Amino acid sequence: MDNNNVLVIGAGVAGIEASLLLANAGKKVYLIEKDLIIGGNVIKYEEVFANMECSTCMIAPKQQEVLQNENIELLSLSEVEKVQGESGNFTVTVNKKARYVSLTACIGCGMCYDPCPVSLKNEFEQNLSDKKAIYVPCAGSLPNVPAIDPEYCLQLSGKKTCNICVEACMFGAIDLTEKDEKVDLSVETIIVATGFDILDPNGFSQFGYGKHPNVFTAMELERLYASNGPTEGKITLRKGDKPPKSIAIIQCVGREHQGYCSSVCCMYSLKIAHYLRDKLPDAKIYNFHSDLCIPGKYNQKFYREVK
Ligand SMILES: Cc1cc2nc3c(=O)[nH]c(=O)nc-3n(C[C@H](O)[C@H](O)[C@H](O)COP(=O)(O)OP(=O)(O)OC[C@H]3O[C@@H](n4cnc5c(N)ncnc54)[C@H](O)[C@@H]3O)c2cc1C
Ligand code: SF4
Ligand code: SF4
Repeated sequence: MDNNNVLVIGAGVAGIEASLLLANAGKKVYLIEKDLIIGGNVIKYEEVFANMECSTCMIAPKQQEVLQNENIELLSLSEVEKVQGESGNFTVTVNKKARYVSLTACIGCGMCYDPCPVSLKNEFEQNLSDKKAIYVPCAGSLPNVPAIDPEYCLQLSGKKTCNICVEACMFGAIDLTEKDEKVDLSVETIIVATGFDILDPNGFSQFGYGKHPNVFTAMELERLYASNGPTEGKITLRKGDKPPKSIAIIQCVGREHQGYCSSVCCMYSLKIAHYLRDKLPDAKIYNFHSDLCIPGKYNQKFYREVK
């Protein structure tokens, strides 16, 4: 069978780059993303080390390219259920969840969010803010088209009759009758680019996460620093609206427990110190680490600057 198709699983920066390279080389790419938007973890950051470039400026053009490339078919809210066959000739069954909002009819105006009566924690914002049952995770999401969480939506969960968002949408983009579907794909090659998850900090009680309100994870701090985040870039304590006066950055959390080094926390700890120095020039910043591994001359330069 002459099959020129490639399946890329995960639309973070790695999956996006792989998809664009292959699509531009003439391959048909199916890009599967379990989330409703593309970009992965990098879109949570305001800036990226070592040059502290604007993350959105770096990744948004790539996201747009993916959405516009005719050789790439994006299946969002989708996960692989089954792979059969062999290299060169795979049949892949994908579970594609309903979005309940049309990717073509929606213009991303946001008029449906406020009227929705259901509020829930926004995981993208590390639960530091709320979202509605119809939502995009943050400003600047791509595709800029909301999805409805069927577990919390009054109508879809069967708790109560509700049609408020449908009435709020002037473009007829919302369809509460949409169903999940299974899609079979025939592909030659599969690329797995599913990235990482952060460690659950609740397992490390010695650091006081969950017990003391002002202990944060690195990802929470990324969102506090982000101009499109829950505080629009204001670094505040969890209780009250005040900025911290002194901060301890603790590295290597979970390394022994997991049995490996994340290989990234030395660098992002420096980034966090850089963020804090920028926003809180009078705060005292302490860094606790067992080793410090700063490979490469650009990273070393960044280290010297931050120190
Ligand atoms: C706090 C923190 C700060 C960081 N700061 C920087 C920085 O400043 N500069 C830098 O270079 N690096 C930084 N990093 C590292 C950077 O985030 C990663 O190198 C980068 O995100 C890896 O991209 P990725 O595409 O491999 O994975 P991810 O960004 O994790 O993307 C993976 C994608 O795959 C999707 N996915 C996962 N499982 C499935 C599945 N089963 N089916 C379908 N889709 C799936 C996810 O939803 C996601 O969209 C930081 C990391 C952390 C934790
Ligand atoms: S149907 Fe009602 S509860 Fe469900 S998303 Fe729309 S407004 Fe929210
Ligand atoms: S679904 Fe309708 S109201 Fe909601 S963002 Fe899209 S176009 Fe706007």
